[in-house]
Formats: sequence, C-alpha cells, structure tokens
Amino acid sequence: MIQKPKGTYDLLPEDTNKWQAMEKTIRNVSKIYNYKEIRTPIFEKTELFHRGVGESTDIVSKETYDFIDRGNRSNTLRPEGTAPVVRSYIENKIYADKFPVTKLYYMGSMFRYERPQKGRYRQFAQFGAEAFGSTSPLLDAEIISYAVSVLKALKIKDVKVHLNSIGDAESKEAYKLALVDYLKDDLDSLCHDCNTRFKTNPMRILDCKIDSKSDFLQNAPKPLEYLNEASKNHFADVIKFLDAMDIAYVIDESLVRGLDYYTHTVFEVKANLETLGAQNTICGGGRYNTLVSSLGGPDIPGVGFAFGLERLMFALDSINFKGDPSYLHLYLMVLGEKQKEDGIAILNRCRLGGLFSDIDYMDKNMKGQFKLAGNFNARFVAIYGEAEKADGTINIKDQDNGTEVTISKEQLYNHIVQELMKPSHSCEGCSEDSCDTCDEEEEN
Ligand code: AMP
Repeated sequence: MIQKPKGTYDLLPEDTNKWQAMEKTIRNVSKIYNYKEIRTPIFEKTELFHRGVGESTDIVSKETYDFIDRGNRSNTLRPEGTAPVVRSYIENKIYADKFPVTKLYYMGSMFRYERPQKGRYRQFAQFGAEAFGSTSPLLDAEIISYAVSVLKALKIKDVKVHLNSIGDAESKEAYKLALVDYLKDDLDSLCHDCNTRFKTNPMRILDCKIDSKSDFLQNAPKPLEYLNEASKNHFADVIKFLDAMDIAYVIDESLVRGLDYYTHTVFEVKANLETLGAQNTICGGGRYNTLVSSLGGPDIPGVGFAFGLERLMFALDSINFKGDPSYLHLYLMVLGEKQKEDGIAILNRCRLGGLFSDIDYMDKNMKGQFKLAGNFNARFVAIYGEAEKADGTINIKDQDNGTEVTISKEQLYNHIVQELMKPSHSCEGCSEDSCDTCDEEEEN
C-alpha cells in the first residue's frame, strides 16, 4: 500500500465542501475590497525565492523543495506566494496598467520541508493578497482591514491583530547595528541557528522558536525604538487609520516576521482557539517597499498578507462550521431493465436543466434505492417502472412533506422546478404577495 507523503493530507468530500464555502466567503470579501485573483505557477525558477525571500531565511536555507528538471534547470515548488506574484507583476508589466494601484489576491498550495505537526504541513494552502503602487499608510490599514473582514465574514472570533513597524531601510539598518551590539556579548546563550543568523540576518533571531522566549532576547532593543521620523510618521498614520475603522490591535514590539523583504508595517493575526493548538498564527503580512525593485522591476512599493487556510479551517471548527449542506433535487428510481433507456433520457433532461440529480447503477430494489435517496438527501424521488412506462407517466414523491403525485413523464422537470420555487416556510426571504405563514409571523 502506497501512502501519502509525510506532511501532506487528503481533503475528502465532506471537508472539500467546507473548504469551498470558506473559499466562497474569501472571494466575496476580496470583491468587496476590489482585489482581483491571480494564479501563478506552482513551481518557479529556484533563483526567484533566493532573491525574493532571502538566502538567510529558514524557508530558503532549509525548507524548499528543489528539483532539477530534464532540461537541467533548477526549479523550486513555491514556498510562499508573494515572490511569484511580484515576478508576474513585473514580467507582465501590470504596473503599466490603467490603475495606479494594483490589488491582487491568490489561493493555492505552498510547499515547505518543515517538521509536520497539527497546523504545519509540507504541502499547505494559503490565501494571500498583495497591493502594489502606493506608499500610502491607507493601503497598510486597508490590507489589515481586509484580513480582519475575512475573519468577520467567516464569523471567527477570539482573534488578535499583532502590529509592529520595523521601519524603512535606514531604520532597519540602525536597528540591526543596535541589535548586533546587544547580542554580541552573549552569543553562547543563543542556539546554533541563531549564531548563524547573527552573521547573516540578526533580526531573524527575534523570531527564533527556541531563543525568542529567553529573558536575554525579551530585553533586546526593539525596532520601534530605532524608527526615523518618516517611519514613525508612517506607523502613526497606519494606527490612526485603523482607529478610524475601529479595528482592534495590540502593538507587539518583538514582531519582525520570517521573511527578509518587509519594511515598515508588519502584522500577524493570532487566534486564541483550542482547535488550533500551538500553531495559532493564522495570518501574517506587512509592507515590502523594495521587493519589486530587488527582483528587477521598477521602484514600486507593495503591501500584503497571507492566511494559512488549514489553520483557518481549524478556527472554523471551533464554531462548528459545516459549509453548504449536500443534497440532490432529484433521485430517479428506474425499476426494470426495459425502463433504463427512458430513465437515462429523463435524467439527462433534468440535468441539462440544472437539477442536481442521480440514479441507481446497481439494480437495487426499491427499499435500497429509497435508502440511497435518503443518504443523498434528495428532495424528490421519482419512480419510473413498468406501469409508468405503459401509460407514459412518472410517480414523484416530495421527501420534505411526503406528498406523492403521478404526472406525465414529460412534465417531470417543470413540476420539480415549480415545486422548488415555492417558498419553504420559515418564510425568511419569502417573496409571495400574500402568504399566510408570513402574515402570521408578522402578527407575532
Ligand atoms: P508565512 O508565509 O510564513 O508568513 O505564513 C503565512 C501563514 O501561512 C502563517 O500565518 C500560517 O497560517 C500559514 N503557514 C505557514 N507555514 C505553514 C505550514 N508549514 N503549514 C501550514 N500553514 C502554514
């Protein structure tokens, strides 16, 4: 028996149903914020991630899935979505488009060779957004508001936005010097990886899963203390705009984020939910003003975020999210070999008209077929047997209320459509001019 690779999972139909509902909500919120979907390849030239994400990051130094193809080219399965989107933005000259600000979102699989655990996989899915073309703090605030709106639309509560600024290139440099100065006297207390990071990218040490909790690092200088005037003003404006939208956040002075390309605003959304376990960061993002130019494009700023969709799904488990119920409009029961030809034609007519329909393929008896229809959650069960064939009729049963009628077989499709259009009471959204149930509900 061949099993799935370590760190991957199968999404079975019951779960895909939930995922589709989650994706539908995400797409809808994306429309509300005027972001358009982009789809880039699942693999890119290895070089893109080395230049885009950064040589010294964990992702590039330890976690990429690299392969040499038959033409001797080095490719990498994408470990994240921003570098590919930026590559596409430059390659397709989207910046020369009629809109000064380009707002894009993506959903898809990412690949990282990490140690698997709940909420951490080797193949996982992200939903991310990127906005290019403006340094305005309005856009930083918008991207955070967009992330928060996705969570609101999914009805996920108990989440917190953690916010920080690491400033522009000048501020980052000043901070780096101060940090190196602080760390240099006690390198022995840091883990092996952090000793390497000290040489390649000391800011990454603040993000270390092992060392970041130590008193030594907790007391290290913080990026906010080293912001120059322009960076301070930018951050103050982001905060002002978030306050104007009543978006709650906490300033998290130790937040730096795992990728090299960030400047100014960085943020994460953490959920305090049992269903998530230790991996409780569901979204991370920030501003990256130099990434487009460092990948060979014009000097154009960007800001974005990425959600981990598995973690979002775990968060949805905490509110018992079920997705859209699965059902059929019609289950067609064909009894007897001679009725099959008519049966498939009737079924086909209903399917072409858009009814969710199915039929038995196993020559089951009536009892077995009723059971199947029930399992499929079919609203109508139509029976077509020898007697019906003889007089050109079909028997149809409404499983909702038990009513049963015999109609001409040509009328089946229209009959079902008419029945489906009748309001089903609870009455919410009922459009009838005079409906007894609605009137009664109104009186109460
Ligand atoms: P990053 O691209 O590292 O900023 O990650 C953005 C989000 O993707 C994180 O907040 C997680 O929700 C999710 N994520 C990152 N790595 C993994 C992984 N290996 N498995 C599942 N989700 C992940």
